[in-house]
Amino acid sequence: MDKDISIGIDIGGTKVHLGLVDRSGKVIDDQRLPVQIDLGAEASIKTICGHLDRLIESNQLKKSDILSFGVGVPGTADIKTGNVEYCPNLGWEDVPAGAIFGKYLERDVIVSQDSRCAAWAEYLLGAGRKYQSMICLTLGTGIGSGIIMDGRIFHGALNTAGEIGHCVFEKDGRPCNCGRRGCLERYCSGTGIIQRALEAFPEKLASLPHKSESVFQLAYGGDQDALTLIRAVVEDLAIGIANAVSILSPQAVIISGGLCEHYELIVSPLEQLVNQYGYHSWSRKKMLKIEKAQAGSDAPMIGAALLYKALK
Ligand SMILES: [Zn+2]
Repeated sequence: MDKDISIGIDIGGTKVHLGLVDRSGKVIDDQRLPVQIDLGAEASIKTICGHLDRLIESNQLKKSDILSFGVGVPGTADIKTGNVEYCPNLGWEDVPAGAIFGKYLERDVIVSQDSRCAAWAEYLLGAGRKYQSMICLTLGTGIGSGIIMDGRIFHGALNTAGEIGHCVFEKDGRPCNCGRRGCLERYCSGTGIIQRALEAFPEKLASLPHKSESVFQLAYGGDQDALTLIRAVVEDLAIGIANAVSILSPQAVIISGGLCEHYELIVSPLEQLVNQYGYHSWSRKKMLKIEKAQAGSDAPMIGAALLYKALK
């Protein structure tokens, strides 16, 4: 019998998502676990592999039955070598993650960036199915993106393609986790939204959790300050997206991550604004599509499991 099931491992800053996925991208079984990142890479990976062994066994499978193993990490990783080059949320720098996973799993393991895994899942089975070239932008606590060009994941010669969140948007602007100032994600991510709101109308947030969801809650209640702020965020985001589109010339931009759930406030106004800020040569015919992601919050794990399709 042909092997049908592959394994996806999506490593986040606080959680690991493990899953068994069939060739069509359907999740057969999955598990979300807290991750203790201060153990260091080797011990963290060993722990993850222990959980994975149990998940495989509980599905009456053996590791040798598995078609492929794929890992998504929140940072720069080289799909060719399996090395994680820079992953500040995990404290990993130059970690041979593929080799360490391979040691414990006794199989080859493919490693890539989580945002590329999410884009790959959207391309194979989500909103990107209609397109051969697209950018999948993840709007959450940060901003990440994965780029698909002519049906392939675009990594770039420096292996850093898609870091739109860390394009400098304002000289000497807000400090960013990456160590520089003024990055787009400090203005337009969930973290950026709550920070801007706390500066603009702190009194309205005094009794609310200091999260971007509180700003949306105010906006849905008709609060003009919150609505104005979200509009300003979307305009800033549109400028960032328009710049990326000018460089990459995709057919579509897919918006994923927690903020895409606020469709009317975030996703819906973007198409018109991106065309407004876009270069006339591509914006004049309004051919670029902006759509909400469809693969859901499992997308990075599913895309990791299906990375073997990207190596063909
Ligand atoms: Zn940055």
